[in-house]
Amino acid sequence: MASDATVTRHLTRGGVRIYGFRVETFPNHFNNIYLILDGPRSTLFDVGSGLPDSNAGLDAAMHAMRERYGESIRLEQVQHVVISHSHMDHFGHVGYFVHRTEAQVYVHELDARVLQNFEERIVLASKDLRVFMERAGLKPQARADLEEMYRLSKSFFKSIRVDRILKDRERIINGYVVHHAPGHCPGQICLQVDDALLTADHVLSRITPHQSPASITPFCGLELYLASLEKMRQVSGVSLALPGHEAVIPDLAPRIDAIAAHHQRRLGQVLDICRRPSTLVDISKALFGERGGYTRLLALEEAGAHVEYLFQRGELGIANLEQVASESNPVIYYEMRKP
Ligand SMILES: [Zn+2]
Ligand SMILES: [Zn+2]
Repeated sequence: MASDATVTRHLTRGGVRIYGFRVETFPNHFNNIYLILDGPRSTLFDVGSGLPDSNAGLDAAMHAMRERYGESIRLEQVQHVVISHSHMDHFGHVGYFVHRTEAQVYVHELDARVLQNFEERIVLASKDLRVFMERAGLKPQARADLEEMYRLSKSFFKSIRVDRILKDRERIINGYVVHHAPGHCPGQICLQVDDALLTADHVLSRITPHQSPASITPFCGLELYLASLEKMRQVSGVSLALPGHEAVIPDLAPRIDAIAAHHQRRLGQVLDICRRPSTLVDISKALFGERGGYTRLLALEEAGAHVEYLFQRGELGIANLEQVASESNPVIYYEMRKP
């Protein structure tokens, strides 16, 4: 492994060259985009947000790779573009490859509709988000602000066609194995190339990947996420994990253990908070403190995923059931169920 500011080179057991590019996809938000060079085959794993700075960062990283490692490939020559999951920082630039190059675009079947019917997805997700925020106990102005922010952050993407719809365990390109790992995102995949596992946002080296409730997006949620962590632990022959953000993960299993343990602790904290009736806004504040802007929504979603997990298991109950029964969409108060 060698690296400079933006490019890291990895060599798999089978001699496949994987270049990691660190690209600023949103202000102060960095993604790892990977270029996999395997004989005559070239594959890009994720493409960045599509914002001008993100695209420039990807171009600069490709240039640095050519200069430093003597590769000759250019972005417009890449043959395959695999999207790890349908979050904007990972797929936003995909339109360039669809409209301006010959590349084939791949995405998991549960995320294909986001890329192909993006406008529909945003309209529907905004509505589900509104219901979620009302129940959470957010004030109307805060709800309107967050909804507006949600829509704006996604307003610049236009739907595209996808060439290949991926399924779990499928082998693509040169035997690379698709591992479906839903939870962080419905169509989240990890891609196994020889002994390297590209984990995208399923496993990260420092932060725990963001969780949101299945009630906002089906196939998200902590239940599926924890099951997908276990699933990735079982994948054999992995000696290197390459995540979608942050540093390389040299040893996957201990990192999976640490993330799972973190969520168990957090579930305990939520139960503790709910010794007295609490709204999701209360729970989020107790866990993460006061948050502003978009991180407030992320904190609410994270708290919501844990509440949902406990509620589905009967460990939390609803403290104001009569009100919930009689009003259209009131704020819900959760309470720990006495054993
Ligand atoms: Zn993500
Ligand atoms: Zn991400």
